[in-house]
Amino acid sequence: MHKDKGDHHHHLRGVVRSHSEPALKDKSSYTPSTSFAAIGHYNDNNLFFEEEESETSCEDSDVRRFDEEEDSSWISWFCNQKGNEFFCEVDDDYILDDFNRSGLRNQVPFYDYALDMILDVESSDIDGTLHDHEQNNLIESAAEMLYGLIHARYITTTKGISAMLEKYRNYDFGRCPRVNCNKQRCLPVGESDIPRLTTVKIYCPRCEDIYSPQSRHQEQIDGAYFGTTFPHLFFLTYGHLKPEKTSQNYAPRIFGFKVHKK
Ligand SMILES: [Zn+2]
Repeated sequence: MHKDKGDHHHHLRGVVRSHSEPALKDKSSYTPSTSFAAIGHYNDNNLFFEEEESETSCEDSDVRRFDEEEDSSWISWFCNQKGNEFFCEVDDDYILDDFNRSGLRNQVPFYDYALDMILDVESSDIDGTLHDHEQNNLIESAAEMLYGLIHARYITTTKGISAMLEKYRNYDFGRCPRVNCNKQRCLPVGESDIPRLTTVKIYCPRCEDIYSPQSRHQEQIDGAYFGTTFPHLFFLTYGHLKPEKTSQNYAPRIFGFKVHKK
């Protein structure tokens, strides 16, 4: 089913990215949330439970690895797509551990097909039975959603957060558009952990506010694929990277005189 990757993946974009951009509320300021309670229960591998879980509960017996001529995996293909710069590559091992996927089966359509797709696995039972073009598109949309939701969990783990650090250093998430923030590097954040509610934003640690991403592709990505916790956990982990909060504010002037607020 993966034979013609390059081609049918083109159709993916239009299918999943159907959110409408929510209007930014005037005067409301962004409140960071670090919902620790929410992290612990699905994620055994995160910072607060630092023990490395080396046992994975996956069985490789009834699936075969999809080894073939394609040089890149679905995951690295996906992360290298234009507009997907915010995503880091999630370890296969993390995805294979079904503990890390708990609860997602109910949220993602075509769950098993989607999982096989992101792991480049072809299960024996679906060989040759599917898929017309349309079904393929649906599965690819589902794969993107599944990857996104796993990604949101992964980036709160030790490994995931350090993968994001590399991207942060590389300016992959863009810079704060606010002049007084002096091109501060940003991090992606969701305003909700529930998919299909809001699109991803970038969080500036200097002014502690959120902005729409620069590129139109990025603007359409679901915020739940990054979650509400990530940037705040990031700066809790790498405290030395948190910049001084800016005290500079723009002062409006008319003919050189400050405009007095009523
Ligand atoms: Zn800023």
